[in-house]
Amino acid sequence: MGQNPLNLLRAAIKVRKLDAILISQPENRRYLSGYTATDHSIAESSGVLLVSVHDMPLLLTDSRYALQAEAEAFGFEVMLYDRGMLALLKKVLKKRGVCRLGFESHYFLHATALKLARVAEKVGTELVPLTGLVEKFRQGKDVDELEKIRASVRLNEEVFQEVYASLRVGMTERQVALAIETTMRKKGASAPSFETIVAAGPNGALPHAVPSDRPLQTGEPIIIDMGTVLNGYCSDMTRTVVLGEPDLKTRDLIRVVRRAQLAATAKIRAGITGREADRAAREIIKQAGYGKNFGHGLGHGVGLAVHEAPSLSSRNRKKLRAGMVVTIEPGIYLPGWGGIRLENMAVVTTDGCEILNADHTFLDI
Ligand code: ZN
Ligand code: ZN
Repeated sequence: MGQNPLNLLRAAIKVRKLDAILISQPENRRYLSGYTATDHSIAESSGVLLVSVHDMPLLLTDSRYALQAEAEAFGFEVMLYDRGMLALLKKVLKKRGVCRLGFESHYFLHATALKLARVAEKVGTELVPLTGLVEKFRQGKDVDELEKIRASVRLNEEVFQEVYASLRVGMTERQVALAIETTMRKKGASAPSFETIVAAGPNGALPHAVPSDRPLQTGEPIIIDMGTVLNGYCSDMTRTVVLGEPDLKTRDLIRVVRRAQLAATAKIRAGITGREADRAAREIIKQAGYGKNFGHGLGHGVGLAVHEAPSLSSRNRKKLRAGMVVTIEPGIYLPGWGGIRLENMAVVTTDGCEILNADHTFLDI
């Protein structure tokens, strides 16, 4: 993290002339406090942080999380609510004399925000909506975070290799997804970082296909997109595999996607924009005649969340910085036929990028 994230947040509080910031987004909460609880849904928070420049930072939560919060949130005072977070927050805002309170408007239900507004009005606090502030700090990974990401990538690859060796024609997509997720747990992952995608034949035309009962067939491309969470950090990898011999078209398309991936990999370095990285891959796919069949962006940041900033897409005109971790995942999707996607993870450096996957030449054909 280079700089302590709490200090970065305190600096942001000063710049914005706030008195405090309320943190509700689960990965941001963890990043700042070390408190690892996750939210079952945005409507079921397992706690919020209240950070100001001088006062002791607070973690407000309920009794279900008391022990965990005390053990994990080092340097935070844990306060428990029993009649809802907002009732306790109201008392704290009043006691601390918070006039301007920043809150994460991108991670707050509209209904909760309306209630927060009523509470704020009663105690004379002005609300300042913020989006993506801590997410910005999270983009650059420090040595410790990189180590955790590497371990997550390694584990993910081990799982892939084991399941890949057991793939047989006739197994269903769901059976393969189950084998992947079971193996992840067996090898120590705390969870998959997203719902595993196994999409064979025509199903591969949907970039976010859900595994079905369709059996795998010889010669067809099978997209396997999988990730693990280990020590809180995510991995994300896609391989397109073929049981038996791929036909000419499949072989041809895999080569195009692989060339696109290599072109982007060669281009990525600190100082280029997300848009430029995306374009490097997109040009290759366009030239091959499949520009319309690569609908999604080239990649995304990975860390505590599997999808986080920065995005490698035509929409991101910001420059990449050393220490950012991104995916490089071009694809071609042909309705009725299927799809090809290849995805590696890389860390951006000052003069290039380092691929984190050990088997990144997998299926070079
Ligand atoms: Zn993926
Ligand atoms: Zn991805």
